[in-house]
Amino acid sequence: MVSALLLAYLIWRVGTGMLRSISGTGFDRTKPEVEDVEELDVFLVCHECGTELHVTRLGELQIPRHCGEPMQVVRRPAID
Ligand SMILES: [Zn+2]
Repeated sequence: MVSALLLAYLIWRVGTGMLRSISGTGFDRTKPEVEDVEELDVFLVCHECGTELHVTRLGELQIPRHCGEPMQVVRRPAID
């Protein structure tokens, strides 16, 4: 009985959420400012497997994970 109510509630939530996204209201998210950091030579490095990602644009700073570990933020000149 409780699960049926929960299911109905979830369906209602999804339904209203969809309506909101269609009408475009209800989303009051301000876009995070994106910084151009290409010249800063910021890299995200995975110490498990050696993968390196060159960060060129930085929005909300969130350290991604690779191989299950948070990547390291490294600043160094790009190797030419
Ligand atoms: Zn990795």
